[in-house]
Amino acid sequence: MSIQRTLSIIKPDATRRSLVGKINAKIEDAGLVIIAQKMLRLTKEQAKAFYKIHEERSFYEDLCSNMVKGPIVVQVLEGDNAVKVYRDTMGATNPANAEPGTIRHEFGESIDLNSVHGSDAPETAAQEIAFFFSQIEICRE
Ligand code: UDP
Ligand code: MG
Repeated sequence: MSIQRTLSIIKPDATRRSLVGKINAKIEDAGLVIIAQKMLRLTKEQAKAFYKIHEERSFYEDLCSNMVKGPIVVQVLEGDNAVKVYRDTMGATNPANAEPGTIRHEFGESIDLNSVHGSDAPETAAQEIAFFFSQIEICRE
């Protein structure tokens, strides 16, 4: 047993289509607990800072533009092996390659409108959680 936390973002393409409840059901069905959650709208500067790791990639500008098109829901998920469990629950980056039943397979529209973000390792999860949440906003301390 290794209890971890991971950062989830329900992206603008999904909030626009009112998919927050359906995505949260998939998260909870996977055994993950939503221990913090809020809706906000990123500025372009904030989106660029969050995705700085990708700044050399060809898709960086489009990615940041897509992230500011509407509100997002940011969440802290907790559970056994939460980083990998949530990656598995999201499915592959490209919805066309995502397994049936995953969030991206069910709801993703394309590789750039793929409905959710999830941290890729415990270390990045800690950084990404701190980007959005202060200690007082996270339950179950
Ligand atoms: N992305 C894209 N085109 C690509 C690769 C990635 O638009 O060829 C977008 C996509 O929205 C993805 C995000 O950039 O979710 C971050 O990419 P990453 O490789 O970290 O994928 P993820 O961890 O989200 O599966
Ligand atoms: Mg990633």
